[in-house]
Amino acid sequence: MRRFLVLLLAWPGIAAALAQLDLDVRLDPATRELTASARLADAAGLRGFRLAPEFEIVALAIDGRAAKLSRRGAVVTLPRGTRQVDVRYRAMLKPLAALDHREVLADRSATAAPEGSFLPAAAGWYPDVGALFAYRVSLSLPAGQKGLVPGELVKEDEGADGYRAEFAFPQPAESIDLMAGPYVLAEHRLKLPSGRYVKVRTWFHPEIAELAPGYLDDSARYIERYSRLIGDYPFAMFSVVSSPTPTGFGMPSLTYLGREVLRLPFIRATSLGHEILHNWWGNGVYPDWRRGNWAEGLTTFLADYAYKEDEGEAAAREMRMGWLRDYAAVPPGEDFPLKDFTSRQHGIASIIGYNKAAMVFLMLRDRIGRDAFERGLQLFWQRHRFKTAGWAELETAFAEASGEPLRDFFRQWVQQPGSPPFAGADPDFRVWRRIDPAVFPPILREVFVAPQASVVLAGDEDELRVPALALAARLLDAKPDTVAATLPGRGPVLIVGKAGRLEAWLAAQELPPPPAMQVGSARVWAGRDRAGRAYAVVSVTDVAALKALARPLPHYGKQSWLVFDGPRATAKGVWPPGVEAAPVSAASPRR
Ligand SMILES: [Zn+2]
Repeated sequence: MRRFLVLLLAWPGIAAALAQLDLDVRLDPATRELTASARLADAAGLRGFRLAPEFEIVALAIDGRAAKLSRRGAVVTLPRGTRQVDVRYRAMLKPLAALDHREVLADRSATAAPEGSFLPAAAGWYPDVGALFAYRVSLSLPAGQKGLVPGELVKEDEGADGYRAEFAFPQPAESIDLMAGPYVLAEHRLKLPSGRYVKVRTWFHPEIAELAPGYLDDSARYIERYSRLIGDYPFAMFSVVSSPTPTGFGMPSLTYLGREVLRLPFIRATSLGHEILHNWWGNGVYPDWRRGNWAEGLTTFLADYAYKEDEGEAAAREMRMGWLRDYAAVPPGEDFPLKDFTSRQHGIASIIGYNKAAMVFLMLRDRIGRDAFERGLQLFWQRHRFKTAGWAELETAFAEASGEPLRDFFRQWVQQPGSPPFAGADPDFRVWRRIDPAVFPPILREVFVAPQASVVLAGDEDELRVPALALAARLLDAKPDTVAATLPGRGPVLIVGKAGRLEAWLAAQELPPPPAMQVGSARVWAGRDRAGRAYAVVSVTDVAALKALARPLPHYGKQSWLVFDGPRATAKGVWPPGVEAAPVSAASPRR
């Protein structure tokens, strides 16, 4: 799960005084009616604001006096010298549609329903001055509903007449997202290393309320971990909020996740920590978008990768190898320097902006040592909290903490694309570089995602033909429409056959025999033939065993081999990597 909504604009130095927005919002999710009154004030003068056209302005007062509205579409222009404007407005929001995450991202309109209401900033639902601002929001909802916006909870009460809460966001904010639903609340008070308290809260749909204790514990654990590593968590509250749509958003002081998504075990184990860390990197220090977004890389390194290090060196090494494997598939012409990464729009952008950047932080830590690296993080945080900072400011902090000039390191890894020529041995994959894909152990995914992959039936096991094609339709992006009877001359291939007879067929094709594995109802393994062609073999005891693979097998693309007992994988693994052809001469890194 990554951040999608919070795109802080580059802001050259935050003005001493921010515009202040005071918002009073009433929302009835059943009728989808929204009424709001807003006061915008800026001692330095207001020139106008934006409010999406579907929000009808019913009254406007400028510096305390009723005024005529000058509005063109979303843009409201104010007379010169305006210091305060009061706006009353209303709208009928759209109903909640059954959207998937991509559609939620593309749609961005405000929706309301008793099951869940979401008013993303991109919907233009509040008067927006187009610059960083401070806000206070008071929210009223009917009984049975609760809601929130990012920030600190100032007041809250609930009675027969409904729910009312007030939130304040005193730091410079770029946007406001509002969420409401039939939430059940659970809360935990966490004491930070400095002695300050943070309110950790879940806002969950009743049907997932039993997940709350686990989310509270894990959120507290992550907040504590990063407060110790970097400096105190910067907000007074952290919330995990459930959404009726299968979505995932990170915002300052909260994360908004689909209720079905919240049930997935890896969310608590990885994504939650990643999102919480964005309260430091991204929502605490703002990346300088014009000079490259370092926040995803640093968050990936200190969250996703750090959790692999917690598991052990084997898991960490596997992640590093996965990064370099993905990078090996990036055409050199599409490579680009870290300074040009802003956000993840496609796979290559995430290979550079997340994975390469994370590896660069690892190489930096290997070079200057863990102590200096952590002092550098703390220094960077102290200096740039709630300010914009770029790679140059990171370089300064780490150079100061380590007492080493790092100009060449950052120029090489941030300003330049690719990597310098690599001469040495690095069997641990700790240096970013292009590696011959043949070095990486074969995995099933190579066949699963190949655009030209075909499926072949080993021998004349006719009863396997239809289920083999059905399995291929589930597994292969290539979606072949027939099952071949003989091995095609070229192209990745999925081979399906019956254990006991498959062996002779493989030998006749000059393919290696089945590797030694436990016995099960099905065995699956990946390999490459002498010409480097990737193949995957599915060996089953009978038709039922083959049919049982349709659901589970697509999820195991990262494996080299698996043993199944019916639909259940009883053993799996990745073959050991090959050896790079390179001279041996490398200093061991400092860790
Ligand atoms: Zn992220």
